[in-house]
This record gives sequence, structure tokens and C-alpha cells, in this order.
Amino acid sequence: MNPFTFTQASDVDAALARLAMPGVRPIAGGTNLLDLMKEGVMHPGELVDINGLGFDRIEQDAGGGLRLGALARNADTAYHPLVRERYPLLSAAILAGASPQLRNMATNGGNLLQRTRCYYFYDVGTPCNKREPGSGCPAKEGLNRLHAILGTSEHCIATHPSDMCVALRALDAVVHVRSQGGAREIPFADFHRLPGEHPERDNTLEAGELVTHITLPEAGRFAAHSTYLKVRERLSYAFALVSVAAALDLDGGKIRAARIALGGVAHKPWRVEEAEASLEGKAPGADAFGAAADIVLRGAKGYGQNDYKLTLARNAIEQALSTATRGTEYAKGEHRGEQQ
Ligand SMILES: Cc1cc2nc3c(=O)[nH]c(=O)nc-3n(C[C@H](O)[C@H](O)[C@H](O)COP(=O)(O)OP(=O)(O)OC[C@H]3O[C@@H](n4cnc5c(N)ncnc54)[C@H](O)[C@@H]3O)c2cc1C
Ligand code: SF4
Repeated sequence: MNPFTFTQASDVDAALARLAMPGVRPIAGGTNLLDLMKEGVMHPGELVDINGLGFDRIEQDAGGGLRLGALARNADTAYHPLVRERYPLLSAAILAGASPQLRNMATNGGNLLQRTRCYYFYDVGTPCNKREPGSGCPAKEGLNRLHAILGTSEHCIATHPSDMCVALRALDAVVHVRSQGGAREIPFADFHRLPGEHPERDNTLEAGELVTHITLPEAGRFAAHSTYLKVRERLSYAFALVSVAAALDLDGGKIRAARIALGGVAHKPWRVEEAEASLEGKAPGADAFGAAADIVLRGAKGYGQNDYKLTLARNAIEQALSTATRGTEYAKGEHRGEQQ
């Protein structure tokens, strides 16, 4: 174990000043960072406990949307009445992840910043471009059952493991961050990045920036027809092989608008707006859903052990869209996505 210092912040400006120093990291629920430190994957010289900074509220914003504090716990977010009623897709996605104990500790900000579950990334005895740039990517020809089929690069084929982020991508969330230099907003589509030549960078957060909250635009009509389908190796306590956040705005038997985002298939939640547009004005059904799935998966490629994801993802998109068609209440009864 590397030695590190630990401070508890109660003042935002003082915390931002500490976080601007090299080797200093914030800690929220600690459910991912502490594991990474114990495995020797991350070794910050100082941890700043940000739990006292007060970014833990969930409230309606002036524009009719919702503001989710970065330090609100995943469980409190999933069970909040406004989230359950207006954004059931987000509630379902959060409850499909981890376990009740973990969701009680894990925060919204930490969920966005959790790191990949690639086995090689966690094993400091092996090379890994994400952990040690330039050392290689053994997953490409090795154990890649859990790995990406879209947006990969020759340097990394890891996936982003979050369930919550898949729903946030489908719902057009915005991430709000602060540093000593001021505040800025990052549309969710631009928050996580593809690996490209720099797989060591998971997202577009700059050094010293803290996530303060996440906003969701007004829910609109998606709440009535949405579902989060998570396919995993066991029903509890497992990361997604493939997941789909699907939502439909139905009007007179036709699709007025659609949202489809995928987890478990890329270095970031995967969404192709052209696929959603292809559904507009169509009647819900297997033909339209299959054609949309083909657009989402255009360019997908397997690496051997994860070839099964090509078929699995297509089937999961079709199934999620047909479940969403039948209605959110139906989806709740059918999937019982909540993990024990
Ligand atoms: C056994 C197990 C199973 C799991 N299964 C799932 C699953 O099925 N689905 C799923 O989605 N997740 C799963 N998780 C992951 C879990 O959701 C994350 O560990 C959790 O969301 C991280 O939140 P945290 O507050 O504990 O973050 P921490 O561990 O405290 O921090 C994680 C990272 O975020 C940074 N950070 C934290 N807050 C901020 C902030 N406000 N601004 C800037 N940086 C910040 C930290 O510096 C650190 O780098 C699982 C975890 C475990 C241990
Ligand atoms: S897939 Fe990415 S995280 Fe996994 S070994 Fe390759 S570089 Fe490392």
C-alpha cells in the first residue's frame, strides 16, 4: 500500500484549491477508488473527502427539469419520487447496478467516474495502455469476453461499466463541473470519450475539476414508455454484458420520438441518433426495431470471445423497444431489474 494523506473538506473553494495540486484526488463513496488503490492501480498522494461539500440534493430546476447532486447517493436518486415518476428509466438503470449496500454508498458523481472492469486494467502484473500508456493491450487477443464491439481503437477495447450513465445518455443529461478557474457544463455525449490514442483518459474532465451536479431536461413523454434491459451473467451483482436504455414517445399508434442508448458495448454509453430518427413516424414493430438496431450497430466488430455481443446487442435492442412499447409499468413487472 502506498502512503497517502486524507483530508475532509467542508469548504468548496478550499477543496478546489487542494484538488488543483498534482496527485490529489477527491473521494466520495469510495466504492471504486478504494478498490483501485488496494490493487495498486491508482495511487493518489492525497485524498480529499468531498462528502461534506453539500452537493447532495435532488431538486426540480426552474426549467422543469431535475438537478441531481453529485454527492447524492445512487439509492437516494433511484428512489426519489421525482426520479421514479418522471425518469423511471434512470431509476431502473441505477437499480440494475451493483447491490443495495453499494448503491447506499455510491454517489452520482462517482458513478460517472468509475473505471473500466477490464481484467488486465486491474492486474498490475500485466501490460495495459489505460493503466500504463504505451505498454500494450493484451485484451485484444486475450480475455475479451466483456469487451467493446463499437468505438474501439488499436490501443484499447475496454467498456465503460456504468448502468446509470446509459440512462443519462438516453435522457440528454448535462454534467456540471467546477474548478478554481470557474464552472462549466458538459453535455453527457461529450463527457465520456472513446479510447483513440489516449485510453488513459476516460472522460473530458480536466485536472482539478469537480462534478457538482447533473441536470436532466424536462421529462416530456418518455416516462410512459421506457425500459432498461440489462443482460448479465447472473441476476445480481454483475456488470452488463449488454444493456439497453430505450424510451418511446408514442402518439396515435406511431412513434413520435425514440431514445436508444447501449451499455457494455463501448468505452462510453453508445447512442446513434440516426437510428432514433429512423423510427419517427413508424408503427412500433419488429421490422422498424430491427432496422434501427442495425443502424446502432453499424461498424460493430468482435475480438473473438466477445463476438456473441453482436447478436446479443441486436436482440436486446429489439426486445427493449418492444417492452417500452407496452409501457413502463409493464416493463417494471416484466424485468424486476432491481438487484438484491
Ligand atoms: C462489486 C461491485 C459491483 C458493482 N456493480 C455495478 C454495476 O452493476 N453497475 C454499475 O453501474 N456500477 C457498479 N459498480 C460500481 C459502482 O456503481 C461505483 O463504484 C460507484 O458508482 C462509484 O461511486 P463512488 O461515490 O463510490 O465513487 P468513488 O469510489 O468515491 O470515486 C470514483 C472516482 O470518481 C472520482 N470522483 C468521485 N466523485 C467525484 C466528483 N464529484 N467530482 C470529480 N471526481 C469525483 C474519484 O476521485 C474516483 O476517481 C459496482 C461496484 C462494485 C464494487
Ligand atoms: S482493453 Fe484497455 S483497459 Fe483493457 S488491457 Fe486493453 S488497454 Fe487496458
